[in-house]
Amino acid sequence: MVTDPRCPDCGVTMEEMTVQTSGGHRLQFLSEENKEGILGKLGVKQRYDGQAYVCSECGLTRMYADIDE
Ligand SMILES: [Zn+2]
Repeated sequence: MVTDPRCPDCGVTMEEMTVQTSGGHRLQFLSEENKEGILGKLGVKQRYDGQAYVCSECGLTRMYADIDE
C-alpha cells in the first residue's frame, strides 16, 4: 500500500477517503484477469477494493487498487 501520498500539484499530504456510491456500496476494481484457482476456471474475475486519496487543496483524487495478495 501507498503511505502518505502527496498531491503532485500542491505538494500537500493527500487525505485518505472511502469512495462509495450514493447507495452505500464500496467501489471495486474489476480486472480482466480471472481469479486464481477454481473460481477463475468458472470465469470469476479478480476484484480489488479501491482506496482513494484526495487533495484537500485542489480536490485531485488518486485511486489505488488494493492489489496486495
Ligand atoms: Zn492538490
